[in-house]
Amino acid sequence: MAHAVTLIRGDGTGPELIENARRVVEATGVQFEWDVVDAGVDVMEQYGTPLPENVLDSMRRTHVAWKAPITTPIGTGFRSVNVAFRKEFDLYANVRPAKTYKGVRSKYDNIDLVLVRENTEDLYAGIEFEQGLPDTVELIDWIRRKQPKAVIYEPAGISIKPISIKGTERIVKFAFEYAAKNNRKKVTAVTKANIMKYTDGLFYAVAREVARNYPNIQYDEVLVDNMCMQLVQKPELYDVLVMPNLYGDILSDLCAGLVGGLGVAPGANIGDHGAMFEAVHGSAPKYKGQNKVNPTAVILSGMLMLRYLGEEDAATRLEKAVATVVAEGKSVTYDMKPDRNDPTAVGTSQMADAVIAKLQGRG
Ligand code: NAD
Repeated sequence: MAHAVTLIRGDGTGPELIENARRVVEATGVQFEWDVVDAGVDVMEQYGTPLPENVLDSMRRTHVAWKAPITTPIGTGFRSVNVAFRKEFDLYANVRPAKTYKGVRSKYDNIDLVLVRENTEDLYAGIEFEQGLPDTVELIDWIRRKQPKAVIYEPAGISIKPISIKGTERIVKFAFEYAAKNNRKKVTAVTKANIMKYTDGLFYAVAREVARNYPNIQYDEVLVDNMCMQLVQKPELYDVLVMPNLYGDILSDLCAGLVGGLGVAPGANIGDHGAMFEAVHGSAPKYKGQNKVNPTAVILSGMLMLRYLGEEDAATRLEKAVATVVAEGKSVTYDMKPDRNDPTAVGTSQMADAVIAKLQGRG
């Protein structure tokens, strides 16, 4: 049966990246019924928004979206397409694998981590009070009455950090289920619970309860500052990492850096009723239409989508084909060459062709 998927073409280099990645994913032999829709700055004039309703409608039908990078318009009051999707479909888990592939410049050669970031709570929830406004002054007065020792120099802005039992339970359960399904041995929860006892402390208390249900998977806890050092010094010790939103935001970029940067970093936003797959990098608009940028991260986000859809074999073949092309270092884009001006670098579509050739046993 064909999988119905909403394919969001994006803008900047998005359309050329996703079209080439689509050819690669189709070359695995898995059947898709694509609903191709447009979002981004290119459709703003026509619809007055970068995220027209038909894009959301499509995902309401298919429950799975594969999204090309999209430029975030500045000064329109629109936060981002990703935030809108996350909220609309309650995509509470952000999954970012970080793996070293031979041929990608990195100081390490044996990293295979998956970072699971809670996507809806924490300081990212957007509960903020601007300095000097009457509500903020009232809030500070209230805090002073309740906690006379609290140090707040006025005027001050206040951001609220909600961490709930529900939000923690579902993200930690997600991380353990992911570990069980993908044959991983350990889940490490990362917070700053020694300082934030009622939020990060709650995260650990709930995580320990959830961990009890998975006796075959090791569970441990590392504080976020220590984790930064551990990841730089011995990243091979870690397997699946789970953490609240803000730490996840920061550590996922750190992990991408460990394995060679944004060009190879895919991501997934997953909820109980839908999922959206994408590259971590943006729309690189200065290269638009030049058939120049690296399709690897978008292709690998297609690999994550195949796994989500239960197409394990196709996903494994696809990852192997990408890894082989990257390791050979011949048919790769400029950014993967030791010298970025190397004239033997190929374009986006030629790199996609090379992966397709590997998948088909040619090349
Ligand atoms: P960017 O990721 O587009 O570019 C950062 C740098 O990486 C640039 O030098 C770019 O040339 C390079 N780069 C990016 N992707 C590449 C690729 N596939 N191959 C080779 N080089 C690549 O980040 P930016 O310039 O900060 O953002 C551009 C726009 O994209 C902004 O509007 C931003 O908001 C948006 N953005 C969107 C997403 C998303 O859709 N998920 C993510 C990040 C940024």
